[in-house]
Amino acid sequence: MQIDIITIFPDMFREVFNFGIVRRARERTLVDVRVHDLRDWTTDKHRTTDDSPYGGGPGMVMKVEPLVSAVEAIADERTRVVLLAPRGAPLRQSKLRELAEVEHLVLVAGRYEGVDERFAYAANAEELSIGDYVLSGGEIPAMVVVDALVRLLPRALADPESAEQDSFSHGMLDFPHYTRPEEFRGLRVPEVLLSGNHAAIDEWRHQRALSDTRARRPELLTTQKIAT
Ligand code: SAM
Repeated sequence: MQIDIITIFPDMFREVFNFGIVRRARERTLVDVRVHDLRDWTTDKHRTTDDSPYGGGPGMVMKVEPLVSAVEAIADERTRVVLLAPRGAPLRQSKLRELAEVEHLVLVAGRYEGVDERFAYAANAEELSIGDYVLSGGEIPAMVVVDALVRLLPRALADPESAEQDSFSHGMLDFPHYTRPEEFRGLRVPEVLLSGNHAAIDEWRHQRALSDTRARRPELLTTQKIAT
């Protein structure tokens, strides 16, 4: 998979993909992540990427021409273009699974008041939000998308089962995890996990995932049919 990121702050990405699972996936050429400076597609001497809003009001708006030029230079017919935007569709594990099938993804990070409305149309971009809050720019959302996506690529995780049991994969939260010691300040690891009885362990995990989901995120259960 190839992921291209368009931003006015490419330096923000200098180290972020050099750790853990994303680093290993890059080293194993499962994913190629390239970061582009939007200013490379400006045409004026000040390398301008923003301008004041038509209609007045505070802040600046990202100009459409450099963004479209960047996408047109990077994209081809295999490409899915995603604009990170607070008003976009909420990013969910199901959307990430869909994007993990794509050969080429372009992520566009906005800044200021946002991006000229004509960009999404001209670049055939879908808009995704990482949550109901407003960040200063789309760079951190783009990092979120890359990290969450890479975990889903075949062979990215040492044990592929681990992604399958993650929260949201089956419409439920993950079950609780414990490691040594067996007892910490009077808090014991549940006996069943020490029993070696794998059927009982599987059943306990399933029931705990279900009860935790019911307690913390009941709406997940109403949208999925889960075996109880
Ligand atoms: N005026 C915009 C609004 O109220 O929707 C906010 C613009 S925000 C300050 C600047 C940029 O940050 C956006 O263009 C987008 O790329 C990014 N951004 C901020 N919050 C985001 C979120 N929750 N999800 C995805 N992108 C976000």
